[in-house]
Amino acid sequence: MTDDLGVYIHIPFCASRCDYCAFVTYVGVDDLHERYVDGVLREIEINAELQEKSATSIYVGGGTPSRIDPTLLGKILAEIKKTSYCEVSVEVNPEDATAERLGSLVDAGVTRFSVGVQSTQEHVLKDLGRQHCGGSVKEIADIVADSGVATWSMDLIAGATSERDADLQATLEDVLDHESAPPHLSCYLLSVEKGTPLSRDPARHPDDDTLARRYEIVDTALEERGYEWYEVSNWSKPGHESRHNQLYWDQGNYVGLGAGAHSHHNGYRSWNVANLDTYLKGVESGVRPLGGDEQLSIATQDFEALALQIRTRKGVQTPKGFNPDALHGFVVKREGRVVLTQRGRLMANQVTRLLSKQSEEFSLDLSRQLT
Ligand code: SF4
Repeated sequence: MTDDLGVYIHIPFCASRCDYCAFVTYVGVDDLHERYVDGVLREIEINAELQEKSATSIYVGGGTPSRIDPTLLGKILAEIKKTSYCEVSVEVNPEDATAERLGSLVDAGVTRFSVGVQSTQEHVLKDLGRQHCGGSVKEIADIVADSGVATWSMDLIAGATSERDADLQATLEDVLDHESAPPHLSCYLLSVEKGTPLSRDPARHPDDDTLARRYEIVDTALEERGYEWYEVSNWSKPGHESRHNQLYWDQGNYVGLGAGAHSHHNGYRSWNVANLDTYLKGVESGVRPLGGDEQLSIATQDFEALALQIRTRKGVQTPKGFNPDALHGFVVKREGRVVLTQRGRLMANQVTRLLSKQSEEFSLDLSRQLT
C-alpha cells in the first residue's frame, strides 16, 4: 500500500454531450462556474484529510476542466497542500489548447496536461458525437510542448463503427510523427455505457474482433516509436508515466472533490452526489454532500488488487495455485511475477477471474488436506 495521497477534482461542464459519454457532466449551465468553484473550495475546507496531509498528485478531470477560466482552477489548486514533487494534471479539450490558457494553467502550478484528441479523422469524431475538428493536432501539440509543462499526454478512442484500420493509422501518424509528439498516450477502446445515445443505437456498437485488431494497431505503432505500455490503456516514454494513475492501480488513498467525485481511504469508498444542485446546496451549507459509501471486505480488496495490478506492466506476484496451461498465450512469467501478453491485455478481466479461481481452488485443496 502506498503512502501517497491523490486528489481528484471533477469539473462537470461541457459544451455538448458526446454520444458515448456517461460521465457526470452538464451542458448549458456555464453561469455556474464561479459558484461551483466556491463549492469545491468549501469542500476542501471541510475535508480533514486535506487539512492534515499534502497531496502527491492532483488530477483535474471532467467534464471539461479547460472550459472554466484558468484563474478559477488556480484558486482551487492554491488551496490544496502539496508535496514539492506533486504532479498536477489537467484535462484539456483541443479547442481550448491556446498558448495563453495553457500558460495561465502552468503559472497556477499545473505540471501535466492530458489532451483529449480522440481521433484526427472528421468522420470518426462525428460518429463519436464529438464537436471539435481534428485538423490541427500538430499545432495543438506544438502549443502544449511549448507551454512549459513538465510532461503531457494525448487521449485517443479506438473502435467507432465508422473508423477503418487506415483511419486509426492516420490518427496515430498525425499524433506521433512530429517533433512535438506527446511523451505519453492513453488509448481507450470504445465501450458502450448504459443510458448514452450510443447504447441506444446497436448499429454503432463496436465488435470485439475489430476492437482487438485496433488495440494491436495502437500497441504496435507505439512500440515501434519507443513507447512502452505500462497499463493496458496507457503507454509512455521512460519517466513519463502518470503518478496519479499509478496511485489508483496501487489502491492508494485519494480525495474526490466536486459533483459525483469518488474518494478512497484504506478500503472505505465514498462518493459525492452527482446532481449539481444538490451538490452545491450541500457544500454551501458546510456539509460534504455524500451520495453513498461502502466498506470493502478484505476479499473484495484482494480481488480488486489482482484486477488492477494484472493490467500493469509489472503484473502480479505469482498467485497461489498458478497453472500456466489454462492461461497459455495470455500471460508470461517474469521474475516471479505474472504479466499479461499483448493478447492477454485484451482479456484482462477473464485472466483476473481465472487467476482468482485458481488461487481459491488451491486454498480449498490445501484446507481439505489439512483437515
Ligand atoms: S467532452 Fe468528455 S466529459 Fe464532455 S461530454 Fe464529451 S466525453 Fe463527456
